Amino acid sequence: MSSSAPAPASPTRGLVVAIDGPSGSGKSSTSRGVANRLGLRYLDTGAMFRAMTWWLLRAGIDVHDADAVSARVSEPGIESGTDPLAPTIVVDGVDVGVAIRGDDVTGAVSRVSSVPQVRARLLQLQRNLIADATTTGGIVVEGRDIGSVVAPDAPVKVYLTADAAARAVRRAAEEGGSDVAATEASLLARDTIDSGRATAPLVMADGAVHIDTTPYTLDEVIDLVVALVEAVEAPA
Ligand code: C5P
Repeated sequence: MSSSAPAPASPTRGLVVAIDGPSGSGKSSTSRGVANRLGLRYLDTGAMFRAMTWWLLRAGIDVHDADAVSARVSEPGIESGTDPLAPTIVVDGVDVGVAIRGDDVTGAVSRVSSVPQVRARLLQLQRNLIADATTTGGIVVEGRDIGSVVAPDAPVKVYLTADAAARAVRRAAEEGGSDVAATEASLLARDTIDSGRATAPLVMADGAVHIDTTPYTLDEVIDLVVALVEAVEAPA
């Protein structure tokens, strides 16, 4: 398979590519790569949940108290920049791109994400961003519930997985050499909460194509997803 990135194709009006999967399955790198290759926007919905969590922690809210969380969800201003080469996340004017990757946020985000009012607020923001992007081109959206809840009509839905050990190695490397065993325990704990919550759990959406990324390089996974997009766009 080719791994070189050609010039972006002309953007396809209205295209939504939904990419879901557990932590460390390769969603972010794949989604950015596909968006860059096809000239689409990119939305990291996990960063939005992390941004909400960062704000709640800073406000001193007990994230295990769902009532306390739900009472405050409308307060933070959360802005996502959708350039796949330089995605940004800003809360009340503060760039939190680095802060939201800290252990405090990572340890709390799945609790916050299980609160329905949090999901409802962010769903509205996500749908607005998708609507904006699809008036001019299209967007690759990554998360846990994109194909099932956020964009159930997306013409391309992908569900990425990888062995837990492979996911931990990748995520620890992304975090600059964190302990692999601790990283694996952390991501499995998040998976359990994300898959078990009542509202919009992590599931493989109807119509999604499952790709186990364990044996593939990043460029190979990007190639596979780009091929899926090209297949839906090919004239019948
Ligand atoms: O993708 P990332 O690992 O940064 O996501 C952080 C957390 O945000 C997930 O573990 C999950 O709890 C939550 N999330 C979610 N729904 C999404 C995206 C992320 O619940 N669509």
